[in-house]
Amino acid sequence: MAQAQVVEKRKMRTPIESGCPDGMQYMHPLMIKNFGNWKYHDRPRPGVLHHVAYSGDEIWTVRVGTQRQLGPYEINLLCDIIDRYGEGYVRFTIRSNMEVMVSKWDKVGPLIQAFNDAGYPVGGTGNSVTMISHTQGWLHCDIPATDASGVVKSLMDELYEEFIKEEMPNRVHITTSCCQINCGGQGDIAINIQHTKPPKINHDLVANVCERPSVVARCPVAAIRPAIVNGKPSLEVDEKKCICCGACYPPCPPMQINDPEHSKLAIWVGGKNSNARSKPMFQKLVAAGLPNNPPRWPEVAAVVKKILYTYKKDARDWERVGDWVERIGWPRFFELTGLPFTKFHIDNWRGARNSLNASAHIRF
Ligand code: SF4
Ligand code: SF4
Repeated sequence: MAQAQVVEKRKMRTPIESGCPDGMQYMHPLMIKNFGNWKYHDRPRPGVLHHVAYSGDEIWTVRVGTQRQLGPYEINLLCDIIDRYGEGYVRFTIRSNMEVMVSKWDKVGPLIQAFNDAGYPVGGTGNSVTMISHTQGWLHCDIPATDASGVVKSLMDELYEEFIKEEMPNRVHITTSCCQINCGGQGDIAINIQHTKPPKINHDLVANVCERPSVVARCPVAAIRPAIVNGKPSLEVDEKKCICCGACYPPCPPMQINDPEHSKLAIWVGGKNSNARSKPMFQKLVAAGLPNNPPRWPEVAAVVKKILYTYKKDARDWERVGDWVERIGWPRFFELTGLPFTKFHIDNWRGARNSLNASAHIRF
């Protein structure tokens, strides 16, 4: 008995895994069987991928666009379709498209029809405008200045035809970001929040809520100083130095920078992570000060569509948006799109090279 207890004591505690579950357990059996042994793949029609294994097995993947924020009703509806017309296997892409795998070509048509009948488009493959990636927004985050998922939904409603067809010169990745400093990656076209006024400080709360040294350290241009206001420890901002980045707001919520009027949206163009045909590129600002105008953000949609359809008309086959702009030059880009070029487009702040994230390796 005593010996058994010693053995029991020596047994190591197994680590508690709190990350993503192992994806293999949810995979279609044909994918597990042929894991790492695929011969080739092609696309029989927009929205459908076809993989052929060395064993001769074939699998078809149907890609479906959703409204992004799925509630229980939508999830049940989609799962019922997948169980009835598919084979019960589904996965999500990094842009939150759903992908449903089936082992027979005959099942593809009825599956697409069932999704379309329920209002869900099939597409997003190849040279289409695939689903826009968006950051968490107000559902999960404490600092968003806009509803990134709402911008995505309203814009994808307008770009529906470009999702279900593959008629762009190359794939188009659009991204959104609901604050100016954190998530969001390099996009062919990116829609990002842009603050235009320094934060407003609620001095009554700073002493209770904020760790002042970490807030001071957070500012990339050293615009924040400790101060005593109304006899209490607080902070002050040198508004001439402040670049309105919003970095002080997450560690110190009383430094409110979100504003219904002065938090605007900006459009950036030409970023990409891929190494195909040209090097990864950083996106560049092309339109600023667009109103943050829910629920449909019409001003943002107008600028995005102007850029997108100019690119569609003018780019050569296989040029990404950034490649196209590099070839024609930025002056011609502004000429063709009709967007105004102002002195505010010129980035003359050299501090960014030392203190801001300068990596194109955040993938969306
Ligand atoms: S972009 Fe900013 S506000 Fe939006 S989810 Fe990420 S950290 Fe939060
Ligand atoms: S908004 Fe940015 S630049 Fe302005 S005070 Fe805050 S951290 Fe500094």
